[in-house]
Amino acid sequence: MKLSAFFAILSATSALGARVPGANSKITYDGYKAFRIHTGENEALVKSKVATLKETINFNMDTAEHLDVVVPPKEVEAFVALGLDSVVIHEDLGADIRAEGDFAPYESAASAAVPSITWFNSYHAYADHVTWFRDIQAAFPGNSALFSAGTSVQGRDIFGIHLWGSGGKGSKPAVYFHGTVHAREWISAKVVEYITYQLVTGYSTDSAVKAILDKYDFYIIPFVNPDGFVYSQTTNRLWRKNRQTRSGVSCVGTDINRNWPYKWELTNGASTDPCAETYKGRAAGDTAELQGVVNFTKSLAAGKGIKLYIDWHSYGNYILTPYGYSCSARPANNARQLELARNLNTKIQAVSGTRHTVGGACSTLYATIGDSTDYLTDVSKAEFAWTIELRPGSSASNGFVLPVAQILPSGQEQWEGMKWLIANM
Ligand SMILES: [Zn+2]
Repeated sequence: MKLSAFFAILSATSALGARVPGANSKITYDGYKAFRIHTGENEALVKSKVATLKETINFNMDTAEHLDVVVPPKEVEAFVALGLDSVVIHEDLGADIRAEGDFAPYESAASAAVPSITWFNSYHAYADHVTWFRDIQAAFPGNSALFSAGTSVQGRDIFGIHLWGSGGKGSKPAVYFHGTVHAREWISAKVVEYITYQLVTGYSTDSAVKAILDKYDFYIIPFVNPDGFVYSQTTNRLWRKNRQTRSGVSCVGTDINRNWPYKWELTNGASTDPCAETYKGRAAGDTAELQGVVNFTKSLAAGKGIKLYIDWHSYGNYILTPYGYSCSARPANNARQLELARNLNTKIQAVSGTRHTVGGACSTLYATIGDSTDYLTDVSKAEFAWTIELRPGSSASNGFVLPVAQILPSGQEQWEGMKWLIANM
């Protein structure tokens, strides 16, 4: 991957943050078009041509096959004139964001009742997610508890739900999920909520669900980056990082998934530019969010240990095994990891045809340093620590905004995959 070129383009356009006209005014993206450009053998050439458009935003980092770009109205004509091999993935990004942002109201469930499955027909406001977790916990009182893994830079609770089976609270190795470390990846919270929903509702009725919950304690954190998520709802739908400010720096935000205190000091796989989307911070683990989350992770590792960790992201449909920091290093159990990951892909695909690319994170996608899965593998000694990139895949006709009609199918296919993986790992 030519990450240096990518970062050069990002800084040339001052990244997404520069587009914020005022602290509280929402960026509409009205009239912005999004294109998927075929790159292939011409990756560097495509990027250099796109770089001539100063306000066009590059979006994906896995650009070996395609580069997704958001083009403001005033640059659409110039973009078309570049003559690149591209398809439109958002005719009007602003209209698609508005459709997605039409949240259904959430009626808190009656005392101890399971929330309705209609929760998965819409995206929701952050406050409703918080209420939903309170409700789902109250519907499963003997086998669950809410917990706090720390506090965000703006003071929001980084909450999670702990689920356990017949062995009692905290008696089994951990299955540990993180969602929404990147603010704009809204589908990740919905998918971990769907898995939570199936565990809670299936425990008393489905022997396969009971078996996996009796074997593992689940710790599910839906919003590792709650401030960024709120900001992506109120102000800039395409926001990625946290909302941390730093002295002497005008750009806001650090990429929490480049800030974990492991291999952070390496240079290839994150940015030292505070305006970049992959800014790694000034010191390993110096984000407010990770101060709590790393300690929570240590407590799981020191307890019954971590069997499986998944960091849920979007998009592109990948199942990524360690490592991010090196394209040649492999974990000791690499063959077993790849075997399970490939079978997981098969199980997901059987539901509705969605295919995931499987492989080592660096060698399959791009180098990342200070990322969660490398830390979980080598420091926390998790047996399996993967990143799953959710829908849409590279063949989809949309990119930045996943239509609400795909929330439920995304949850269903990942749940079928997890049910198989956790029973067979
Ligand atoms: Zn992500």
